[in-house]
Amino acid sequence: MIGVLGGGQLGAMFAMAARRLGYRLAVWDPDPDAPALKLADLALSAPLSDPTPLKTFADAIEAATYEWENIPVAVCETLAQRIPVRPAPQILRVLQNRLEQKTFLTSRGFPVAPFRAVSFPDRLVVPQDIGFPCLCKTATAGYDGKGQWRVSGPNDIRPVREELRRQGHSPWVLEQFLSFEKELSVVVVRAADGDRRIYPTVENLHESGILRMTRAPAQVDPGTAERAATLAGSVVEAMEGVGVFCVELFLMPDGRLFINEMAPRPHNSGHYTLDACTVSQFEQQVRAVCGLPLGEVRLLCPAVMVNLLGEDLIKVGSGEGLANLLRTPGAAVHLYGKKSVRPGRKMGHVTFLSEKPDAAWEAALALRRALGRPGLPQAPPR
Ligand code: AMP
Repeated sequence: MIGVLGGGQLGAMFAMAARRLGYRLAVWDPDPDAPALKLADLALSAPLSDPTPLKTFADAIEAATYEWENIPVAVCETLAQRIPVRPAPQILRVLQNRLEQKTFLTSRGFPVAPFRAVSFPDRLVVPQDIGFPCLCKTATAGYDGKGQWRVSGPNDIRPVREELRRQGHSPWVLEQFLSFEKELSVVVVRAADGDRRIYPTVENLHESGILRMTRAPAQVDPGTAERAATLAGSVVEAMEGVGVFCVELFLMPDGRLFINEMAPRPHNSGHYTLDACTVSQFEQQVRAVCGLPLGEVRLLCPAVMVNLLGEDLIKVGSGEGLANLLRTPGAAVHLYGKKSVRPGRKMGHVTFLSEKPDAAWEAALALRRALGRPGLPQAPPR
């Protein structure tokens, strides 16, 4: 039995991959409605800080992983005394804190946007090497663009300081705003014996900090895709990470690449691998966690993934909207079965597959129109 900390859609897709390879699952999530709990042999619904389920969980499993980075490191450390926990708790500790992550990356010579730690709201100043515009982000617990404030000019400093005071989530990271040309990401899998697989470089479109669409492969020249893949592979190697990692990158107009952040788990931008690759990122996570040989990462055909967020589900999650989607050639529909719809909440995704890349792209744009969002997701203001 494999244990998964966190039971959201990533945990559910991991659970399905694990079941396919004959494993049983223990899932632990505070939310009784978490999608992966329904797929578990042992479903624990309690706060992750609660010591009682920890014993039940630890006694039942032979290996553990997690589906998101904001889980208590202490729980992983306790488990790691008895069983393999992958990625290792010390990696989780670094990656769940933006400051530690960026400090690690710069110490190893990897390119990140110039940044500073902000330990108190009143210490928020914008040094010359960062300049305006810049972004202030919480060091921990931020995701999907939450816990981020834009500082466009000197007049923004005071309101952002007040916002930080209200939040009280110190410390924060102040970083330069990069006027990137594209956002790219690369999923890297590394096994305990050092074997490594790198999925194709993909291109991501965000809106309000949330991923909307992923295009695989990225529409960039082969040299850029290769550099992104090599960079991502080197970062995971430098961490000696075992498991699945996603490295998010900014491609600058002059061709430079910067690392935005990395996650110690399968990533939304890797969901296309479920339908478009020989072995999905979730099955690779199972393989890495259980010490099995890694699988092939070959892209079988071009793909475009569109997230269904919040109210999108009302439009295409049932009735005629869903019927149209299900009738679309090459559309692979995934609905996560979450009970409540909240704005921006990830409710499902659709991957469009086609031998002709333009056809997958056109089908994705048709879905955008059906969702009442014609055109491409809006990039953040420059
Ligand atoms: P994050 O939560 O840090 O991944 O940020 C969410 C999104 O905000 C990213 O995918 C980008 O679209 C945007 N973003 C984050 N950091 C920067 C930056 N330094 N410069 C420009 N855009 C950024």
